Amino acid sequence: MKQLELLYSGKAKSVYRTENPAELVIKFRDDITAFDGEKKDTLADKGSLNAGVSIFFFGLLEKNGIKTHYIRKIDDSTMVARNLTMIPLEVIVRNIAAGSIVKNYPIEKGTPLNPPVIVIDFKDDTHHDPMLNDDLIYALKLSTPDELRVIKQIALGVNNVLRDYLDGRGIDLVDFKLEFGKKDGIIYVGDEISMDSMRLWDKKTGESLDKDVYRTGLGDVITSYHRVARRIIDGH
Ligand code: 5GP
Repeated sequence: MKQLELLYSGKAKSVYRTENPAELVIKFRDDITAFDGEKKDTLADKGSLNAGVSIFFFGLLEKNGIKTHYIRKIDDSTMVARNLTMIPLEVIVRNIAAGSIVKNYPIEKGTPLNPPVIVIDFKDDTHHDPMLNDDLIYALKLSTPDELRVIKQIALGVNNVLRDYLDGRGIDLVDFKLEFGKKDGIIYVGDEISMDSMRLWDKKTGESLDKDVYRTGLGDVITSYHRVARRIIDGH
């Protein structure tokens, strides 16, 4: 597998072409950002910790019949993924109120959301990822009604698998963000599923085990990521 030229560099990952047009190389970098890129750092091990958890979750989803872009691991921070046509939606599933839903609506942090709430943002940095609704998604031609129905169904399926798994590890899955892509009419879960894209609370102490540690500046985010990655992958 040859890693050829850089196709795209996001806030925390770089995507490279390979000699196989159906496959990409995705490298998780040590960069971390928050608040629309206003807060930025480079922290040793961050890339490999998020890659390890993402690869683990993609494997868990595949075992549960959910299609993801993950193909194989190259090294601790790099994987080979299917080359998809990405859909510019950030599909957020919320099980417990936290973050922007608490900031923007009259709901208290920690309120259980049952059934889970799906919120979809437009992945568009120039417009600061505004929230969409179904009609806006169709008007902007981001997906068809059939695709959106499948996307929501997959997102809820992912939620069931991850929530049950994390529950068994003593962790509450508060919320998470997914991105999707298409290939040959099939919709796959793409991007990453890591501490950067989820909220995870320790069930006993309520402690944040995710990027909120960095956002709030209340602790050492890499120590938290190491601890939670070990709990997720090794179970202790
Ligand atoms: P909120 O809407 O509360 O800011 O975010 C909800 C969930 O989606 C959180 O777990 C957050 O980490 C994730 N999320 C929302 N937007 C983004 C984004 O642009 N990038 C990443 N990595 N995660 C996001």
